[in-house]
Amino acid sequence: MIRVYKNPVAPPSLPKKLSWNHDDVVAQLREDQHCKCYLCERKLITDFQVDHLQSRHNFPRLIYEWSNLFLCCFYCNCKKSDHFDNILNPALTDIEDLITQKMDFPNAKAVFTNPGTPSSQTAETIKLLSRIFNGTTGIRNIREQAFYDYAKSKISDFQALLLDWLETESPEAEQAIMEELSSAAEFTAFKRHLIRINPRLRSRFAPYIRLQNT
Ligand SMILES: [Zn+2]
Repeated sequence: MIRVYKNPVAPPSLPKKLSWNHDDVVAQLREDQHCKCYLCERKLITDFQVDHLQSRHNFPRLIYEWSNLFLCCFYCNCKKSDHFDNILNPALTDIEDLITQKMDFPNAKAVFTNPGTPSSQTAETIKLLSRIFNGTTGIRNIREQAFYDYAKSKISDFQALLLDWLETESPEAEQAIMEELSSAAEFTAFKRHLIRINPRLRSRFAPYIRLQNT
């Protein structure tokens, strides 16, 4: 999960309060979020929904509020439902400064941590991300396992790319790494973390990530 830069102007259909997922809303969210789910950072082709950061059920006055709408995948939307109304707003928050996002492949899980005492919003965001990547009950069902396997394959491919560059420093590998670090790529937060923790990678690719303050 990374920061999202949304167009400050609401799409024209929203003030009319006819629909919160009219095509102009979807089109603007797709552009602002690089066609990615704001929670899991997967690219969405057709499997996208307009999610209410604060749920329709609990915050009916925010149904047509542009700042409350984000592009989300069906999988994450089901995990979130109306049980996570207090997560961090990625349009207002540098998520990567507050939550370290990394893979623990030996233990087959994603790990989300906050370096200090997390706020209630940060803690709730960590809880939701953990459910998305690690499953709701601790034992993944088929859909949750398929999600994890996909994330693992993409982040493993990026690790292989980093090893290639560390060995060869080839321009091709360098260019590919830069593209994978952009906000438009999948699982950017996990990839940027791998850069931050390696001094050589950090030294070379720092301009392509937003470094944490610590
Ligand atoms: Zn998602």
